Amino acid sequence: MTKLQGTRVFGGYAIGTVSVFDNKKEDVERRHAADPSQEEARFRNARERAKEELQALYEKTSASMDDESAKIFEVHQMMLDDLDFEDAVMEGIRTEGINAEYAVLQAGKNLSEVFAQMDDEYMRARAADLLDISDRVIAILTGRKRKELAPTDEPVILLAEDLSPSETVQLDRSKILAFVTRFGSVNSHTAILARSMGIPAIIGLDYDAEADGQTAIVDGYGGLLLTDPDEETLAQYKEKKEKDDAARALLLELKGKENITLDGRSIEIFANIGGVSDVEDALQNDAGGVGLFRSEFLYLGTEDYPDEETQFQAYKTVAEKMAGKKVIIRTLDIGADKRVSYFDLPAEENPALGYRAIRICLDRPEILRTQLRAILRASAFGNIAVMYPMIASVWEIQRLKEVFEEVKGDLADEHIAFDENMEQGVMIETPAAVLISEELAQEVDFFSIGTNDLTQYVLAADRQNPRLARFSDAHHPALLRAIRMTVESAHRYGKTVGICGELAADTLMTEFFLTLGVDELSVTPSMVLTVRDAVRKTDLRA
Ligand code: PEP
Ligand code: MG
Repeated sequence: MTKLQGTRVFGGYAIGTVSVFDNKKEDVERRHAADPSQEEARFRNARERAKEELQALYEKTSASMDDESAKIFEVHQMMLDDLDFEDAVMEGIRTEGINAEYAVLQAGKNLSEVFAQMDDEYMRARAADLLDISDRVIAILTGRKRKELAPTDEPVILLAEDLSPSETVQLDRSKILAFVTRFGSVNSHTAILARSMGIPAIIGLDYDAEADGQTAIVDGYGGLLLTDPDEETLAQYKEKKEKDDAARALLLELKGKENITLDGRSIEIFANIGGVSDVEDALQNDAGGVGLFRSEFLYLGTEDYPDEETQFQAYKTVAEKMAGKKVIIRTLDIGADKRVSYFDLPAEENPALGYRAIRICLDRPEILRTQLRAILRASAFGNIAVMYPMIASVWEIQRLKEVFEEVKGDLADEHIAFDENMEQGVMIETPAAVLISEELAQEVDFFSIGTNDLTQYVLAADRQNPRLARFSDAHHPALLRAIRMTVESAHRYGKTVGICGELAADTLMTEFFLTLGVDELSVTPSMVLTVRDAVRKTDLRA
């Protein structure tokens, strides 16, 4: 048995078979090739076969899951046809006189390193794809069998180097018991997605790829991975898991109950969602509404801007499913770690301090208008509010409100129905927004504190950087004061204030939030009942 420690992302226990999705591959022999043209032909043949494999995977995945999940296999086919890749392989074969498999390995590594050095997070994430496509071609050339990330038949414990947000959204939840990555950080969007899957998840764990196929235990609470456990340990964890399952079942008894403290203070508990498919989870867990709909996930993993109709349908479906409960849709928060190629965003020295969210929307109002039209149209079908991310100045919200009024005017002219009284709010995610929260409160209907970004900006610690974990303490007094100041400003002007960052689900903080008088906590669906439980056990008189 081996026991390894990482950092917890989501609690719970899983026992099952390990599936390693690893970029590390066995050695490829470097040989001198007597006939370069024969190697070229071997490469071209293997590349064609690789594309056929990818096409088959594409079809299988789009049939068993959906087109969205299958997209990655389409992207890989395109990457195989990329001229830079072909040139690099041919160069190895012709000028160095080496065998095709070694030339592919070399080309894949070199190009992937170029990508890995890029400032742009999206491009960096493509480094893994390059290694992946070259390995597929090498496997064909050497006759080795390759593993596929998805889809698997049996649910597995997934071990991976790292997963990008777009890979994570493609994972089939029903096929993953837990996941463990070597890299990543707790507030990255990948970790947020992992939490929304509600399965045990650990990051920063230096696993051994040899564990593939072995039985393992994931202890999400302790951040532990135990591979090849002995009988005694297995029995212990089976018992722990049963107790944990029972405790979770007990939580289900809290469905339908109020979020009220022992001394009668109540608070709303909403859910954070990334798309239509999360609404079911929100409802199952009895969320009182949607406190954050991360609309940018509609833009991730597509090849072009989602049009007004596509967005409208998504927002309308969510609003209808929530049946009158509040749904707060955040306008596009693209940029930083959430990269989308068709936006053609420039590479940046400091993406987190860069061109993202409303900064893009204010420069490219056509994107904002399309989204606001879709949101406003959907508002005729439920209880929708809109919220703007990454606000730092009063003029920004004033300009956003102007565009909002213009869009309303257009819809009225076109006799299209919408909710005349739809509320507008801002996210408080920058230190500037905290410091001008009194002014902002006079401009909007509500605030929602995004503690993930607020932590990174208040503490000047990149949320994507795992090395900064101990410097990004979300309980830091500076952050707690920022939250208090924001709540006071909102209430001074009679506005409501929620928290939708990951801290909202931290039950060590529940009492503090209740004491401040926070109106709403919005958490990943699987944490709604846990937070309700914490609220119901709190006594503010104590
Ligand atoms: C936040 O910053 O706390 C937040 C909720 O937004 P996101 O995590 O999507 O940046
Ligand atoms: Mg944020």
